[in-house]
Amino acid sequence: MICRKFIGVTLLLFFLQMQLLFAQDSIPSYIITTGKLPQLAYSSGEDRLGSAKMGYIDTSVVMKVIDTVKNLYKVQLSALHYAFIEKTYTQPFFDTMLSTALCESWRVKGGDEFDSVTFSLSGRVPYKSWMEINPSRIKIELYNVQSNTNWITQLTSAKAVKNVWYEQIENDVLQITIELVKQQHYGYSIGYNGKSLLLKIRRLPAGIRNMTIAIDAGHGGTNLGASGTTSGIIEKNYTLLFAKELQKILKKQKIKVLMVRETDTTIDNKDRVLWAQQNNPDIFISFHLNSSGRDYIRGASTYYKHIAFRSFSQSILKRLLQIKNLDEFGNIGSFNFQPIQPTDYPGCLVEVAFLSNEEDEKMILDPKFRYNVAYQVYLGIKDWIKEWK
Ligand SMILES: [Zn+2]
Repeated sequence: MICRKFIGVTLLLFFLQMQLLFAQDSIPSYIITTGKLPQLAYSSGEDRLGSAKMGYIDTSVVMKVIDTVKNLYKVQLSALHYAFIEKTYTQPFFDTMLSTALCESWRVKGGDEFDSVTFSLSGRVPYKSWMEINPSRIKIELYNVQSNTNWITQLTSAKAVKNVWYEQIENDVLQITIELVKQQHYGYSIGYNGKSLLLKIRRLPAGIRNMTIAIDAGHGGTNLGASGTTSGIIEKNYTLLFAKELQKILKKQKIKVLMVRETDTTIDNKDRVLWAQQNNPDIFISFHLNSSGRDYIRGASTYYKHIAFRSFSQSILKRLLQIKNLDEFGNIGSFNFQPIQPTDYPGCLVEVAFLSNEEDEKMILDPKFRYNVAYQVYLGIKDWIKEWK
């Protein structure tokens, strides 16, 4: 009996050990970011919009893996900070012991369309950036970094940047503040150029006539979206009609327009972002039609991701609510929807009305209403530029 028990326990231990070895084998110690638009998330939480995003991160950034949760790696950013990243945006990284990088000198200068700030680093490190309002600031947190920033060169050509400074807030976290001249943010992009981190801050063009406006008709192709309760109309077809109305109005005003799609094609939300980042619009508007399980819910709503772009979505909603019989559903913030995720330009998602509500649906079917919506969106854009120029 004793002998059998002993064999049983030994076997059990052996299996446990094998499992542990196998598990260790399947999780790399370090990963390097790769692919198009890798992004960090705050949590592994999942709803229909996915986990709350911390922001995009560049490729070739090495991070230590501390755990694995479903399709995500939990990665160490610094001694006290961690994040989650989808495994598909990583590759195992074998050859290193991760050492703390140094942040060296900075340079602030102005160009034709952008101001730029360059941060010299001894290696690519994970970062997070965000916008603050009142006062308007861009904040960057660099992880696994110590400051050796002994000078910051600032040229008079810089027009959007007022002041820059840093604080080493933790032993291995450097917090950078970029104070802006204007109260309103117009967008910024961030990424590596070699080992240097490059921040480009957009300046708003002189007026709406000098702008490029990107219009995104939601869904398309195999992605149908919602459908009308009584008519059965499909969201993808009607978002395109609203988008084309706005295109017509803007073209008439001689404003440059970029359409994400003009036909019934399937475009992944990530590809919409990549397209927009490549085409560099000044503003991004996405049209959708809402739907709810409760058929009495109706009205227009606008959505923003970044607090700095709230004023833009408010301007559009304000004008939409001037349309007769169009109720208010609201202005919705921190909206975790990929096409309005970039910080590169002010983005606004417009949910015109509810396909699940009979009265709203009737309006959506009316060409006059679609023209009115597009025209009010145009006025909303104009108001916002006038207010924040
Ligand atoms: Zn939609």
